[in-house]
Amino acid sequence: MNVLVIGRGGREHALAWKLRQDGHVVFVAPGNLNMDGVTCVPIKETDVSALVAFAKDEAIDWTIVGPESALMAGVVDAFQAEGQRIFGPTKAAALLEGSKAFAKEAMREADIPTAGYDTFTDAASALHHIDQLEAPLVVKADGLAAGKGVTVAFTLDEARAAIHDIFDTDKFGDQSRVVIEEFLDGEEFSLMAFVSGEHVIPMITSQDHKRAFDGDKGPNTGGMGAYSPMPHLDDVVYKEAVERVLFPLARTMVERGTPFEGFLYAGLILTADGPKVIEFNVRFGDPETEVILPNLASPLLDVIEAVVDQKPYSIEWVDGYTIGVVVAAEGYPDRATTGQVLSGFSDLGDDVLVFHAGTTRDGTDIVGNGGRLFVLTSTKPTLLEAKTTVYMALEQLDLPQTFYRRDIGGRALARIF
Ligand code: AMP
Repeated sequence: MNVLVIGRGGREHALAWKLRQDGHVVFVAPGNLNMDGVTCVPIKETDVSALVAFAKDEAIDWTIVGPESALMAGVVDAFQAEGQRIFGPTKAAALLEGSKAFAKEAMREADIPTAGYDTFTDAASALHHIDQLEAPLVVKADGLAAGKGVTVAFTLDEARAAIHDIFDTDKFGDQSRVVIEEFLDGEEFSLMAFVSGEHVIPMITSQDHKRAFDGDKGPNTGGMGAYSPMPHLDDVVYKEAVERVLFPLARTMVERGTPFEGFLYAGLILTADGPKVIEFNVRFGDPETEVILPNLASPLLDVIEAVVDQKPYSIEWVDGYTIGVVVAAEGYPDRATTGQVLSGFSDLGDDVLVFHAGTTRDGTDIVGNGGRLFVLTSTKPTLLEAKTTVYMALEQLDLPQTFYRRDIGGRALARIF
């Protein structure tokens, strides 16, 4: 089949890689010049009409959406209006990620375990509310804030400062609502699923490492590495998350008149009272995708077609583990350097995969273009072998003006041994 992937990062490279493995012809818009064996199409993720026109002209059979920007721009609605097959939520269903208040209401209706919360539309009422509470607590700007709208406040003064930032500055963009939430204590993990209406095909678990530096130190980032599945997560907890979170949410979205179709991502915390939801994303996670897809033995479009056609499907996974380490430009996540020439990739061999994100090409050179540059992954029968293989491969590369965490997967390994 002809498949169009919308996006340009490591997640989209992993989707394109998987689709090529499955034997499809893959186009990526706009893509990245370092994505092998695909055709890059110079159309932006949010240029909805150009994307629809391209899909029609090139007889694209399926379009898969990577980033939220395309979903919020209404790409799914536009494709559906033209009868083009696309996997992703409509703009209305994408509010599950676009508005934390919408997500919280849906969770309340579906009786999904999550942190207690209140919503406010002005600073004075939010500040008054905080005076009645104790730290720690969590302050969240309601709208999309590129992952930066959340403050885990360990003192009430920090919480007050966050409210000031949300209402009185444009630090988080144009925000008019704040969610103040109970602090949940426990280990975070991700659970994603293929969803269409009430039909849900859950994936295996994964765990991201959000802080920039080893030992979970430094600023929050888009994610510095991940592994999948989590060997230390109990089957009972997994089942509880599937039964109490994924299925009820899918059902409630149908009942609310905004049925969800696409990749659903639940960010969870395993508390003493069981798994609770921190957030939903309406797309594949990044870097989780880069460690989930190498483990997926079933062809990707078979799973998507099964869920969309509401057919029973037994999804198959590789019997092993994948670890992915993100290599970022020096200075990330603040002011990342660009222009570094990255080399050594051609000698890496078949034990690892490289998914490009913030890189570009200068002649035959692979060059840094800012932010998270690429993810290097390995899939092996054990987590330890996967980790060893990834870090040995990284040692082989020449990566000036970059950094990466040395402890991806470390928490899981510490639990096993
Ligand atoms: P979010 O953008 O909602 O995923 O939040 C970003 C990060 O803030 C999460 O990955 C958690 O580490 C943290 N966080 C968000 N909500 C809570 C909560 N209620 N309790 C504890 N930590 C939280």
